[in-house]
Amino acid sequence: MTVHRCAMPECPREATGIFCPDHYVQLEPSQAKWLVRWEIKLARCEDEGTKQHMREQLHGYTQEAVRAIKSAEATALMEGMRR
Ligand SMILES: [Zn+2]
Repeated sequence: MTVHRCAMPECPREATGIFCPDHYVQLEPSQAKWLVRWEIKLARCEDEGTKQHMREQLHGYTQEAVRAIKSAEATALMEGMRR
């Protein structure tokens, strides 16, 4: 089995899905659920062509989630500085 890294750029941790547990909890619950659903769909799919297409879509959703975490981190940082 290959080690699957967290989808967050610069995160060296091992992922338990798409993200490592630390980044996974930073996702919006609806987004986390959506990604898990896609992973399950992908794992159950047996057609290689469909699978490839689903992988590309999941990649797009993952990038969206990465951006969401980054903007949440930036907001938290700015709030921290204001105090
Ligand atoms: Zn991570």
